[in-house]
Amino acid sequence: MKSDYVIIGGGLAGISTLYELTIRGHEVVLLEEKDDVALETSYANGGMLTPSMADPWNSPGIAKHLIKSLNNQHSAMKLHLSALPGMAFWGLKFLRNSTKKRYYAATKASFELAKFSLNRINELIEELNIQNDHNKKGTMKVFTNNQSFSNQIKIAKMLSELGLNYSPLNNHETIKVEPLLSNTKEKIIGSIYYEDDCSGDARLFTKKLANESVKLGAKIFTKTKVEKITRHKNKITGLETANKFISTSNIIIAAGNNTPILTKRFGLNPSIKPVKGYSLTFELNGKNQLPRIPVIDDSMHAAIVPLGKRLRAVGTAELAGFDKSIPNERIDNLKYLFKRLYPDLNETVNWANVKPWAGLRPMSADSLPFIGKVKNIKGLWINSGHGHLGWTMSSGSAILISDLIEGKKPSIDPLPYRIYR
Ligand SMILES: Cc1cc2nc3c(=O)[nH]c(=O)nc-3n(C[C@H](O)[C@H](O)[C@H](O)COP(=O)(O)OP(=O)(O)OC[C@H]3O[C@@H](n4cnc5c(N)ncnc54)[C@H](O)[C@@H]3O)c2cc1C
Repeated sequence: MKSDYVIIGGGLAGISTLYELTIRGHEVVLLEEKDDVALETSYANGGMLTPSMADPWNSPGIAKHLIKSLNNQHSAMKLHLSALPGMAFWGLKFLRNSTKKRYYAATKASFELAKFSLNRINELIEELNIQNDHNKKGTMKVFTNNQSFSNQIKIAKMLSELGLNYSPLNNHETIKVEPLLSNTKEKIIGSIYYEDDCSGDARLFTKKLANESVKLGAKIFTKTKVEKITRHKNKITGLETANKFISTSNIIIAAGNNTPILTKRFGLNPSIKPVKGYSLTFELNGKNQLPRIPVIDDSMHAAIVPLGKRLRAVGTAELAGFDKSIPNERIDNLKYLFKRLYPDLNETVNWANVKPWAGLRPMSADSLPFIGKVKNIKGLWINSGHGHLGWTMSSGSAILISDLIEGKKPSIDPLPYRIYR
Protein backbone atom coordinates (compact mmCIF):
# COMPACT_ATOMS: atom_id res chain seq x y z
CA MET A 1 0.00 0.00 0.00
CA LYS A 2 1.08 3.57 -0.73
CA SER A 3 -0.06 7.06 0.29
CA ASP A 4 1.28 10.63 0.03
CA TYR A 5 0.65 11.32 3.72
CA VAL A 6 0.08 8.98 6.67
CA ILE A 7 -1.18 10.20 10.05
CA ILE A 8 -0.67 8.11 13.17
CA GLY A 9 -3.47 8.52 15.73
CA GLY A 10 -7.24 8.99 15.44
CA GLY A 11 -7.88 11.45 18.27
CA LEU A 12 -8.72 15.15 17.98
CA ALA A 13 -5.21 16.04 16.76
CA GLY A 14 -4.96 13.31 14.11
CA ILE A 15 -8.51 13.54 12.74
CA SER A 16 -8.41 17.36 12.58
CA THR A 17 -5.16 17.10 10.60
CA LEU A 18 -6.69 14.43 8.36
CA TYR A 19 -9.61 16.71 7.53
CA GLU A 20 -7.42 19.77 6.90
CA LEU A 21 -4.98 17.95 4.60
CA THR A 22 -7.85 16.23 2.78
CA ILE A 23 -9.73 19.45 2.00
CA ARG A 24 -6.44 20.87 0.72
CA GLY A 25 -6.48 18.11 -1.90
CA HIS A 26 -3.93 15.66 -0.49
CA GLU A 27 -4.09 11.87 -0.50
CA VAL A 28 -4.10 10.89 3.20
CA VAL A 29 -4.35 7.68 5.21
CA LEU A 30 -4.88 7.63 9.00
CA LEU A 31 -3.98 4.67 11.20
CA GLU A 32 -5.56 4.14 14.60
CA GLU A 33 -4.71 1.38 17.04
CA LYS A 34 -8.16 1.21 18.71
CA ASP A 35 -11.45 -0.16 17.30
CA ASP A 36 -12.66 3.33 16.38
CA VAL A 37 -11.48 6.94 16.31
CA ALA A 38 -11.74 9.12 19.45
CA LEU A 39 -11.65 6.26 21.94
CA GLU A 40 -8.65 7.47 23.93
CA THR A 41 -8.28 10.95 25.47
CA SER A 42 -10.70 12.50 22.98
CA TYR A 43 -13.56 10.26 24.20
CA ALA A 44 -15.28 11.95 27.18
CA ASN A 45 -13.29 15.08 27.94
CA GLY A 46 -14.72 18.26 29.43
CA GLY A 47 -16.09 19.42 26.10
CA MET A 48 -15.10 23.01 26.84
CA LEU A 49 -13.64 25.26 24.15
CA THR A 50 -11.81 27.67 26.35
CA PRO A 51 -9.11 30.06 25.19
CA SER A 52 -9.88 31.58 28.60
CA MET A 53 -8.11 28.60 30.22
CA ALA A 54 -4.83 29.29 28.44
CA ASP A 55 -2.84 29.55 31.67
CA PRO A 56 -0.60 26.50 32.12
CA TRP A 57 -1.05 24.25 35.12
CA ASN A 58 2.52 24.73 36.32
CA SER A 59 1.83 28.14 37.77
CA PRO A 60 4.47 29.72 40.04
CA GLY A 61 4.34 27.84 43.37
CA ILE A 62 3.37 24.49 41.80
CA ALA A 63 6.32 22.63 43.39
CA LYS A 64 5.02 23.23 46.94
CA HIS A 65 1.51 22.24 45.89
CA LEU A 66 2.68 18.96 44.33
CA ILE A 67 4.71 17.96 47.39
CA LYS A 68 1.69 18.57 49.63
CA SER A 69 -0.51 16.56 47.25
CA LEU A 70 1.49 13.34 47.84
CA ASN A 71 -0.51 12.70 51.01
CA ASN A 72 -3.84 14.16 49.95
CA GLN A 73 -6.34 11.94 48.08
CA HIS A 74 -8.56 14.95 47.34
CA SER A 75 -5.95 17.35 45.99
CA ALA A 76 -7.09 18.99 42.71
CA MET A 77 -3.65 18.39 41.21
CA LYS A 78 -1.97 15.27 42.56
CA LEU A 79 1.44 13.69 42.20
CA HIS A 80 1.72 9.92 42.77
CA LEU A 81 4.99 8.54 44.13
CA SER A 82 4.73 5.59 41.73
CA ALA A 83 4.99 7.98 38.75
CA LEU A 84 8.20 9.66 39.92
CA PRO A 85 10.85 7.29 38.47
CA GLY A 86 9.82 7.92 34.84
CA MET A 87 9.36 11.65 35.30
CA ALA A 88 12.73 13.15 36.11
CA PHE A 89 13.37 14.86 32.74
CA TRP A 90 9.79 16.06 32.22
CA GLY A 91 9.39 16.97 35.90
CA LEU A 92 12.44 19.22 35.95
CA LYS A 93 11.29 20.95 32.77
CA PHE A 94 7.78 21.30 34.23
CA LEU A 95 9.22 23.06 37.29
CA ARG A 96 11.64 25.15 35.23
CA ASN A 97 8.67 26.47 33.25
CA SER A 98 6.84 27.60 36.36
CA THR A 99 8.78 30.85 36.72
CA LYS A 100 6.59 33.94 36.31
CA LYS A 101 8.25 34.94 33.04
CA ARG A 102 7.87 31.55 31.34
CA TYR A 103 4.39 31.02 32.77
CA TYR A 104 3.08 34.29 31.33
CA ALA A 105 4.80 33.74 27.97
CA ALA A 106 3.25 30.27 27.68
CA THR A 107 -0.17 31.64 28.69
CA LYS A 108 -0.05 34.14 25.83
CA ALA A 109 1.12 31.59 23.25
CA SER A 110 -1.50 29.10 24.36
CA PHE A 111 -4.21 31.76 24.09
CA GLU A 112 -3.17 32.78 20.55
CA LEU A 113 -3.47 29.21 19.27
CA ALA A 114 -6.66 28.48 21.22
CA LYS A 115 -8.42 31.61 19.95
CA PHE A 116 -7.37 30.99 16.35
CA SER A 117 -8.53 27.40 16.68
CA LEU A 118 -11.91 28.17 18.24
CA ASN A 119 -12.79 30.45 15.30
CA ARG A 120 -12.12 27.56 12.93
CA ILE A 121 -14.06 25.06 15.07
CA ASN A 122 -17.09 27.38 15.09
CA GLU A 123 -16.84 27.69 11.29
CA LEU A 124 -16.63 23.90 10.85
CA ILE A 125 -19.58 23.25 13.14
CA GLU A 126 -21.69 25.56 11.03
CA GLU A 127 -20.35 24.58 7.58
CA LEU A 128 -20.62 20.82 8.20
CA ASN A 129 -23.75 21.04 10.37
CA ILE A 130 -22.03 19.08 13.14
CA GLN A 131 -24.54 17.91 15.75
CA ASN A 132 -22.40 17.81 18.88
CA ASP A 133 -24.53 19.82 21.33
CA HIS A 134 -22.51 22.92 20.53
CA ASN A 135 -23.13 25.76 22.98
CA LYS A 136 -21.94 29.30 22.24
CA LYS A 137 -23.14 30.93 25.46
CA GLY A 138 -19.73 31.10 27.17
CA THR A 139 -18.27 29.60 30.34
CA MET A 140 -17.96 30.82 33.90
CA LYS A 141 -15.23 30.24 36.48
CA VAL A 142 -16.37 30.58 40.10
CA PHE A 143 -14.11 31.42 43.03
CA THR A 144 -14.22 30.80 46.76
CA ASN A 145 -10.87 32.43 47.48
CA ASN A 146 -9.99 36.12 47.06
CA GLN A 147 -6.36 35.49 46.12
CA SER A 148 -7.22 33.05 43.31
CA PHE A 149 -9.96 35.41 42.07
CA SER A 150 -7.58 38.35 41.78
CA ASN A 151 -4.81 36.19 40.22
CA GLN A 152 -7.23 35.04 37.53
CA ILE A 153 -8.43 38.57 36.86
CA LYS A 154 -4.79 39.56 36.37
CA ILE A 155 -4.38 36.83 33.73
CA ALA A 156 -7.65 37.77 32.05
CA LYS A 157 -6.57 41.41 31.92
CA MET A 158 -3.29 40.43 30.27
CA LEU A 159 -5.09 38.24 27.72
CA SER A 160 -7.66 40.94 27.01
CA GLU A 161 -4.86 42.74 25.13
CA LEU A 162 -4.81 39.73 22.80
CA GLY A 163 -8.59 39.64 22.41
CA LEU A 164 -10.05 37.84 25.45
CA ASN A 165 -13.47 39.18 26.47
CA TYR A 166 -14.18 38.69 30.16
CA SER A 167 -16.46 40.08 32.87
CA PRO A 168 -15.62 39.81 36.57
CA LEU A 169 -18.90 39.31 38.48
CA ASN A 170 -19.93 39.51 42.11
CA ASN A 171 -22.07 36.79 43.69
CA HIS A 172 -25.35 38.42 42.72
CA GLU A 173 -24.27 38.96 39.08
CA THR A 174 -22.99 35.39 38.92
CA ILE A 175 -26.45 34.05 39.67
CA LYS A 176 -27.96 36.30 37.03
CA VAL A 177 -25.74 34.65 34.39
CA GLU A 178 -26.36 31.11 35.71
CA PRO A 179 -29.66 31.23 37.67
CA LEU A 180 -29.39 27.55 38.66
CA LEU A 181 -26.54 28.52 41.00
CA SER A 182 -29.01 30.37 43.27
CA ASN A 183 -29.14 27.55 45.84
CA THR A 184 -25.49 26.63 45.66
CA LYS A 185 -23.77 25.54 48.87
CA GLU A 186 -20.44 26.88 47.60
CA LYS A 187 -19.39 30.20 49.17
CA ILE A 188 -18.91 31.86 45.81
CA ILE A 189 -17.24 35.23 46.32
CA GLY A 190 -17.28 36.02 42.62
CA SER A 191 -16.77 34.66 39.14
CA ILE A 192 -15.42 35.50 35.72
CA TYR A 193 -17.72 35.11 32.75
CA TYR A 194 -16.02 34.41 29.42
CA GLU A 195 -18.58 35.20 26.76
CA ASP A 196 -16.66 33.87 23.72
CA ASP A 197 -15.94 30.41 25.13
CA CYS A 198 -18.01 27.54 23.76
CA SER A 199 -18.61 23.89 24.60
CA GLY A 200 -19.74 20.70 22.90
CA ASP A 201 -19.11 16.98 22.62
CA ALA A 202 -15.55 16.52 21.31
CA ARG A 203 -16.02 12.86 20.40
CA LEU A 204 -19.05 13.59 18.19
CA PHE A 205 -17.07 16.39 16.53
CA THR A 206 -14.12 14.06 15.87
CA LYS A 207 -16.34 11.31 14.46
CA LYS A 208 -18.08 13.72 12.11
CA LEU A 209 -14.76 15.15 10.84
CA ALA A 210 -13.54 11.58 10.30
CA ASN A 211 -16.67 10.72 8.25
CA GLU A 212 -16.42 13.91 6.20
CA SER A 213 -12.75 13.19 5.45
CA VAL A 214 -13.60 9.68 4.24
CA LYS A 215 -16.36 11.10 2.01
CA LEU A 216 -13.72 13.33 0.44
CA GLY A 217 -11.43 10.37 -0.28
CA ALA A 218 -9.31 9.94 2.87
CA LYS A 219 -8.78 6.44 4.27
CA ILE A 220 -8.95 5.46 7.94
CA PHE A 221 -7.74 2.08 9.17
CA THR A 222 -8.71 1.27 12.76
CA LYS A 223 -7.34 -1.69 14.79
CA THR A 224 -4.03 -0.82 13.14
CA LYS A 225 -1.11 -0.15 15.44
CA VAL A 226 2.01 1.42 13.97
CA GLU A 227 4.97 -0.62 15.19
CA LYS A 228 7.80 1.14 13.44
CA ILE A 229 8.51 4.14 11.23
CA THR A 230 11.08 3.36 8.54
CA ARG A 231 13.56 5.57 6.71
CA HIS A 232 16.37 5.37 4.20
CA LYS A 233 19.26 7.66 5.14
CA ASN A 234 17.51 10.92 6.11
CA LYS A 235 14.22 10.31 4.29
CA ILE A 236 11.02 8.71 5.55
CA THR A 237 10.10 5.62 3.51
CA GLY A 238 7.03 4.28 5.29
CA LEU A 239 5.75 2.46 8.32
CA GLU A 240 5.16 -1.04 9.57
CA THR A 241 2.07 -2.38 11.29
CA ALA A 242 1.53 -5.98 12.47
CA ASN A 243 0.46 -7.10 8.98
CA LYS A 244 1.28 -4.41 6.45
CA PHE A 245 3.89 -2.01 5.19
CA ILE A 246 2.66 1.34 3.97
CA SER A 247 4.97 3.23 1.72
CA THR A 248 4.96 7.02 2.17
CA SER A 249 7.33 9.92 2.25
CA ASN A 250 5.39 11.99 4.83
CA ILE A 251 4.28 10.90 8.29
CA ILE A 252 2.48 13.04 10.86
CA ILE A 253 2.64 11.66 14.39
CA ALA A 254 -0.49 12.62 16.35
CA ALA A 255 -0.36 9.71 18.77
CA GLY A 256 -0.99 11.65 21.99
CA ASN A 257 0.89 10.14 24.92
CA ASN A 258 2.54 7.56 22.64
CA THR A 259 4.23 10.17 20.48
CA PRO A 260 7.59 9.98 22.35
CA ILE A 261 7.60 6.17 21.92
CA LEU A 262 7.40 6.60 18.14
CA THR A 263 10.00 9.37 17.89
CA LYS A 264 12.56 7.73 20.16
CA ARG A 265 14.44 5.94 17.40
CA PHE A 266 14.98 9.29 15.67
CA GLY A 267 16.74 10.63 18.75
CA LEU A 268 13.82 12.85 19.65
CA ASN A 269 12.07 12.84 23.00
CA PRO A 270 9.35 15.50 23.07
CA SER A 271 8.59 16.05 26.76
CA ILE A 272 5.03 14.72 26.88
CA LYS A 273 3.62 12.94 29.95
CA PRO A 274 0.11 11.68 30.72
CA VAL A 275 -1.90 13.77 33.17
CA LYS A 276 -4.95 11.85 34.31
CA GLY A 277 -8.44 13.30 34.65
CA TYR A 278 -11.92 11.88 35.13
CA SER A 279 -15.43 12.50 33.92
CA LEU A 280 -18.96 11.38 34.73
CA THR A 281 -21.68 11.81 32.10
CA PHE A 282 -25.29 11.63 33.20
CA GLU A 283 -28.86 12.77 32.64
CA LEU A 284 -31.30 14.13 35.17
CA ASN A 285 -34.48 12.24 35.98
CA GLY A 286 -37.61 14.27 35.35
CA LYS A 287 -37.96 17.54 33.50
CA ASN A 288 -35.56 19.75 35.42
CA GLN A 289 -33.97 22.66 33.63
CA LEU A 290 -30.25 22.17 32.97
CA PRO A 291 -27.52 24.75 33.63
CA ARG A 292 -27.06 27.18 30.70
CA ILE A 293 -23.28 27.13 30.60
CA PRO A 294 -20.26 25.20 31.90
CA VAL A 295 -19.30 26.30 35.41
CA ILE A 296 -15.71 25.74 36.43
CA ASP A 297 -14.83 25.54 40.12
CA ASP A 298 -11.37 27.04 40.44
CA SER A 299 -10.51 25.46 43.80
CA MET A 300 -11.37 21.92 42.67
CA HIS A 301 -9.92 22.17 39.13
CA ALA A 302 -13.24 20.72 38.01
CA ALA A 303 -16.34 21.70 36.04
CA ILE A 304 -19.97 20.87 35.44
CA VAL A 305 -20.69 21.04 31.72
CA PRO A 306 -24.12 20.83 30.08
CA LEU A 307 -23.99 18.87 26.79
CA GLY A 308 -27.45 18.99 25.23
CA LYS A 309 -29.65 16.89 27.50
CA ARG A 310 -26.64 15.49 29.36
CA LEU A 311 -24.38 16.85 32.05
CA ARG A 312 -20.72 16.08 32.45
CA ALA A 313 -18.79 16.47 35.70
CA VAL A 314 -15.12 16.60 34.79
CA GLY A 315 -11.74 17.43 36.16
CA THR A 316 -8.75 16.87 38.43
CA ALA A 317 -5.18 16.34 37.32
CA GLU A 318 -2.98 13.48 38.43
CA LEU A 319 0.58 12.62 37.57
CA ALA A 320 0.20 8.84 37.75
CA GLY A 321 1.94 7.52 34.65
CA PHE A 322 -0.19 5.48 32.22
CA ASP A 323 -2.45 4.19 35.02
CA LYS A 324 -6.14 4.56 34.05
CA SER A 325 -7.72 3.08 37.17
CA ILE A 326 -10.63 5.04 38.66
CA PRO A 327 -10.44 5.35 42.46
CA ASN A 328 -13.73 6.02 44.29
CA GLU A 329 -12.32 9.15 46.03
CA ARG A 330 -11.85 10.90 42.69
CA ILE A 331 -15.34 10.11 41.51
CA ASP A 332 -16.75 11.16 44.87
CA ASN A 333 -15.01 14.53 44.42
CA LEU A 334 -16.86 15.11 41.14
CA LYS A 335 -20.19 14.06 42.66
CA TYR A 336 -19.49 16.35 45.62
CA LEU A 337 -18.87 19.30 43.31
CA PHE A 338 -22.18 18.72 41.53
CA LYS A 339 -24.02 18.36 44.82
CA ARG A 340 -22.57 21.60 46.20
CA LEU A 341 -23.11 23.65 43.05
CA TYR A 342 -26.58 22.33 42.21
CA PRO A 343 -28.10 20.77 45.36
CA ASP A 344 -31.63 20.75 43.87
CA LEU A 345 -30.59 18.96 40.68
CA ASN A 346 -28.50 16.47 42.64
CA GLU A 347 -31.71 14.97 44.05
CA THR A 348 -32.69 13.82 40.56
CA VAL A 349 -29.52 11.93 39.59
CA ASN A 350 -29.33 8.18 39.83
CA TRP A 351 -25.59 7.95 40.52
CA ALA A 352 -25.65 4.15 40.53
CA ASN A 353 -26.15 4.17 36.74
CA VAL A 354 -23.41 6.66 35.91
CA LYS A 355 -20.33 5.20 34.24
CA PRO A 356 -17.08 6.96 35.15
CA TRP A 357 -14.30 7.58 32.64
CA ALA A 358 -10.61 8.34 33.01
CA GLY A 359 -8.42 9.90 30.32
CA LEU A 360 -4.76 10.87 30.05
CA ARG A 361 -4.03 14.38 28.80
CA PRO A 362 -0.85 14.38 26.67
CA MET A 363 0.83 17.24 28.55
CA SER A 364 4.04 18.96 27.60
CA ALA A 365 6.30 20.45 30.26
CA ASP A 366 5.32 24.03 29.32
CA SER A 367 1.67 23.25 28.42
CA LEU A 368 2.20 24.12 24.75
CA PRO A 369 1.84 21.55 21.97
CA PHE A 370 4.63 20.34 19.69
CA ILE A 371 3.80 21.24 16.10
CA GLY A 372 6.45 20.98 13.42
CA LYS A 373 9.08 18.97 11.60
CA VAL A 374 11.61 16.56 13.04
CA LYS A 375 15.12 17.87 12.33
CA ASN A 376 17.33 16.07 9.80
CA ILE A 377 14.57 13.63 8.77
CA LYS A 378 12.77 14.59 5.59
CA GLY A 379 9.04 13.97 5.87
CA LEU A 380 8.56 13.39 9.63
CA TRP A 381 6.13 15.72 11.41
CA ILE A 382 4.55 16.01 14.86
CA ASN A 383 1.22 17.44 16.05
CA SER A 384 0.99 16.38 19.69
CA GLY A 385 1.06 17.32 23.36
CA HIS A 386 -1.97 19.60 23.62
CA GLY A 387 -2.54 18.82 27.31
CA HIS A 388 -5.64 20.30 28.90
CA LEU A 389 -6.66 22.21 25.74
CA GLY A 390 -6.50 19.54 23.03
CA TRP A 391 -10.12 20.00 21.96
CA THR A 392 -9.84 23.79 21.94
CA MET A 393 -6.58 23.79 19.96
CA SER A 394 -7.41 20.93 17.57
CA SER A 395 -8.47 22.72 14.38
CA GLY A 396 -5.95 25.55 14.73
CA SER A 397 -3.12 23.06 15.20
CA ALA A 398 -4.30 21.16 12.12
CA ILE A 399 -4.11 24.35 10.04
CA LEU A 400 -0.66 25.17 11.38
CA ILE A 401 0.85 21.73 10.71
CA SER A 402 -0.73 21.69 7.23
CA ASP A 403 0.72 25.14 6.43
CA LEU A 404 4.17 23.96 7.55
CA ILE A 405 3.91 20.73 5.54
CA GLU A 406 2.92 22.66 2.42
CA GLY A 407 5.72 25.18 2.97
CA LYS A 408 3.19 28.04 3.13
CA LYS A 409 3.48 31.16 5.27
CA PRO A 410 1.85 29.88 8.49
CA SER A 411 -1.49 31.42 9.50
CA ILE A 412 -0.16 31.79 13.05
CA ASP A 413 3.40 32.25 14.38
CA PRO A 414 4.76 28.67 14.76
CA LEU A 415 7.71 29.57 17.00
CA PRO A 416 6.15 28.96 20.46
CA TYR A 417 5.05 25.44 19.40
CA ARG A 418 8.32 24.36 17.74
CA ILE A 419 9.49 20.86 18.60
CA TYR A 420 12.95 21.77 19.86
CA ARG A 421 12.50 24.00 22.88
C1 LIG B 1 -10.57 14.60 31.94
C2 LIG B 1 -10.18 15.41 30.74
C3 LIG B 1 -10.87 16.56 30.45
C4 LIG B 1 -10.51 17.33 29.35
N1 LIG B 1 -11.24 18.45 29.05
C5 LIG B 1 -10.91 19.22 27.99
C6 LIG B 1 -11.68 20.35 27.67
O1 LIG B 1 -12.70 20.64 28.29
N2 LIG B 1 -11.28 21.13 26.63
C7 LIG B 1 -10.15 20.85 25.90
O2 LIG B 1 -9.80 21.62 24.99
N3 LIG B 1 -9.43 19.72 26.15
C8 LIG B 1 -9.78 18.91 27.17
N4 LIG B 1 -9.05 17.80 27.48
C9 LIG B 1 -7.84 17.53 26.69
C10 LIG B 1 -8.13 16.81 25.39
O3 LIG B 1 -9.10 15.82 25.57
C11 LIG B 1 -6.83 16.18 24.86
O4 LIG B 1 -5.83 17.16 24.79
C12 LIG B 1 -7.05 15.61 23.46
O5 LIG B 1 -8.06 14.64 23.49
C13 LIG B 1 -5.76 14.97 22.93
O6 LIG B 1 -6.02 14.53 21.64
P1 LIG B 1 -4.93 13.69 20.85
O7 LIG B 1 -5.47 13.41 19.51
O8 LIG B 1 -3.60 14.36 20.94
O9 LIG B 1 -4.77 12.36 21.71
P2 LIG B 1 -5.73 11.08 21.78
O10 LIG B 1 -7.16 11.47 21.76
O11 LIG B 1 -5.26 10.25 22.90
O12 LIG B 1 -5.44 10.36 20.40
C14 LIG B 1 -4.21 9.71 20.13
C15 LIG B 1 -4.58 8.46 19.36
O13 LIG B 1 -3.39 7.84 18.87
C16 LIG B 1 -3.60 6.44 18.90
N5 LIG B 1 -2.29 5.79 18.87
C17 LIG B 1 -1.30 5.90 19.79
N6 LIG B 1 -0.23 5.17 19.40
C18 LIG B 1 -0.55 4.59 18.22
C19 LIG B 1 0.14 3.73 17.32
N7 LIG B 1 1.40 3.29 17.57
N8 LIG B 1 -0.49 3.32 16.19
C20 LIG B 1 -1.76 3.74 15.91
N9 LIG B 1 -2.46 4.57 16.74
C21 LIG B 1 -1.86 4.99 17.88
C22 LIG B 1 -4.37 6.24 20.21
O14 LIG B 1 -5.05 4.99 20.22
C23 LIG B 1 -5.29 7.43 20.22
O15 LIG B 1 -6.57 7.16 19.65
C24 LIG B 1 -9.40 16.97 28.55
C25 LIG B 1 -8.74 15.78 28.82
C26 LIG B 1 -9.11 15.00 29.91
C27 LIG B 1 -8.40 13.72 30.19
